[in-house]
Amino acid sequence: MLVFILNAGSSSLKYQLMNPETTEVLASGLCERIGIDGRLVHEANETKTKKDLDMPTHKEAIEIVLDVLTQGENKVINSIEDIDSIGHRVVHGGEYFSTSVLIDEDVVSKLKELIPLAPLHNPAHIIGIEICKELMPTKPNVAVFDTAFHQTMPASSFMYAVPYEDYKEHKVRKYGFHGTSHFYVSDQAKQMLNKEDSKVIVCHLGNGSSICAVRDGKSIDTSMGLTPLEGLMMGTRSGDLDPAVISYLMERKDMSANEMTNYLNKKSGLLGVSGISSDLREIIEAAANGDERANTTIDMKCNRIKKYICSYAGMLEGVDAICFTAGIGENADLIRQRVCSGLEFMGVEIDNEKNQVRNDQNREINKETSKTKIFVIPTNEELVIAKDTYNLTKA
Ligand code: ADP
Repeated sequence: MLVFILNAGSSSLKYQLMNPETTEVLASGLCERIGIDGRLVHEANETKTKKDLDMPTHKEAIEIVLDVLTQGENKVINSIEDIDSIGHRVVHGGEYFSTSVLIDEDVVSKLKELIPLAPLHNPAHIIGIEICKELMPTKPNVAVFDTAFHQTMPASSFMYAVPYEDYKEHKVRKYGFHGTSHFYVSDQAKQMLNKEDSKVIVCHLGNGSSICAVRDGKSIDTSMGLTPLEGLMMGTRSGDLDPAVISYLMERKDMSANEMTNYLNKKSGLLGVSGISSDLREIIEAAANGDERANTTIDMKCNRIKKYICSYAGMLEGVDAICFTAGIGENADLIRQRVCSGLEFMGVEIDNEKNQVRNDQNREINKETSKTKIFVIPTNEELVIAKDTYNLTKA
């Protein structure tokens, strides 16, 4: 059984070919600069190749990927007939989808309807789905949604305190994102805890960052909202702020709605405050060299994570495990240490030596005496996509 996993973005396309039964990854890679010029980074048979190739649209990109999988010295299959099914990562499933689904005409029309909620992502996913249907017409396609895991949130978590009609008419509510990662990591934590009715907080800290409160395997609240802009301070996204800042700055700086959206999504966060980079490693380095603004940026990042952890511990009425995942969560021991220090009052005791160990395994980094476990769990969204695709198509 082989699943072709596709994550189509507006000018990029990530892919993997995985056997969901053995979890073996046969090949993985990325097409970048689609519609501009085109670059392929492909990894298979322990060999990484980079090539500049013409990719005017997503169609040529997918054709190129299918070619490198089936031809040349690093081919991993003989023909596309060896692919059994295709799993698509889809950012926004709105209120329609609370689980992964087999894609049919009705699913595609719902994805189209949801474009206003994810104007950059859903159109690219639809293109990816349509091209796969054209190039591999006999293969089933499955959609796996970033929002689906959070559909268990109660109304008290997902409603915004704005007039109710705007929820009904315009679907203004919190949806949450990174659901596949929050599901995977909380599920791993549940197994590591081996406890009924577990209370877990997952901190997915990458360029995009979000936190999720998970009770007995179900998301009960999460920090991202209608879009992935709400919540934590991120690489270039502001996260939470007083909504009045928006109209205030639009008036003072004569900004349009589009300019403001760009300002909050692309120019804010770590980049905006530090003035250095959206990459936390560069900010940590600058802080170590005495840059005050870099220091403040790191303090802000950590304080905000801490605030969410404490508020979710309150909502969960306790916490069995705090989990760190994604680029920052898995690698930045400094951030984990700063976030956890001071939380001893709620039974969180980090072990500084264990925290500094680096590997790609699930690991526990709390002291023996800590009432709350602290886990580092490398996320694996592709595995969830492959397994869901396999389960929905094996019949
Ligand atoms: P994306 O959301 O793009 O998938 P990732 O999960 O790959 O992001 O995370 C990228 C972030 O992880 C970057 O901000 C990068 O600086 C950070 N990061 C990776 N390794 C380290 C490290 N050793 N120390 C601090 N930050 C790190």
